[in-house]
Amino acid sequence: MRKTVLAALTALAAFSATARADNFPSHPITIIVPFSAGGPTDSMARILGERMQRSLGQTITIENVTGAAGSLGVGRVVRSPPDGYTISIGHLGTHVANGAIYNLGYDLVTDLEPVVLLPSNPMVIVSKNAVPAKTLGELLAWMKAKPTPATAGTAGAGSGSHIAGLYFENVTGIKLQYVPYRGTAPALNDLVAGQIDIIVDQLSNSIAQVRAGTIRAYAVTDGKRVESASEIPTTDEAGLPGFHMTLWSGLWVPKGTPKDIVTKLNAAAVEAMNDPAVRKKFDGLGLQVPPPDQLTPEALGTWQKAEIAKWWPMIKAANVKVQ
Ligand code: ASP
Repeated sequence: MRKTVLAALTALAAFSATARADNFPSHPITIIVPFSAGGPTDSMARILGERMQRSLGQTITIENVTGAAGSLGVGRVVRSPPDGYTISIGHLGTHVANGAIYNLGYDLVTDLEPVVLLPSNPMVIVSKNAVPAKTLGELLAWMKAKPTPATAGTAGAGSGSHIAGLYFENVTGIKLQYVPYRGTAPALNDLVAGQIDIIVDQLSNSIAQVRAGTIRAYAVTDGKRVESASEIPTTDEAGLPGFHMTLWSGLWVPKGTPKDIVTKLNAAAVEAMNDPAVRKKFDGLGLQVPPPDQLTPEALGTWQKAEIAKWWPMIKAANVKVQ
């Protein structure tokens, strides 16, 4: 008797999961951006979300849940129902580095379901205009000659801008004094205002201010120049050969989200990334769409695990302090 009830309940659960997937999405979806509005992660979420809602036939709203280098926003998604209506957008910092730095209370691999890899973005070394340097060589000389370390804005310990700063310290041997913000949008405001000296920033965040001449760019951390910002030399050309870093991003949903729903979300994101109008916006921001074979949920899962294996030992050895 008990066995029959159990079987009936299991069948019912399976049926309602399928039913949910069939009419998904039947109400608005939320993408949780774990950094401040107007920053690089927020901009990418808005460009994607706007196009994805056309494919999905539902509104997508963006919610900024900031703090602790994005780990609070990701936690919000982990604790949400696994129904596809709450999506996590994040990157190498939030979905890899934070696991080596914070006591998260969740597991980045086993508590989340990968949806799709999103465009990656090179970093750019930028300073406030008051810094008396015109080239990367002059910037490094100025930093070395300073009696106190240059101040570097970040989106918190473990964020993309912080990892890039640690990498910069590593290749130059120059110490930085980190100033954490809730995202690189407010850090950039302070750079423009002259409150901090530099940011090793995502190009997509800084590019408009560089073009407006309100901050100065020295080099992009890539092997080749970025087409839409071709006036900025590469680190190889500017004197830091091999200092390459691109910040990849992705979408995840809570573990246990039905496979059909993950597939629908993946298809909508891929369609968005293939849309010429979206491509144009991404190109302008120096955002590089991954090759088609990298756009499956499985590819993101494999990539995230490989990145954890690569970065955790380095981050743990750097003994990063949570500020
Ligand atoms: N991507 C973050 C933001 O949107 C910044 C970072 O990781 O450095 O603010």
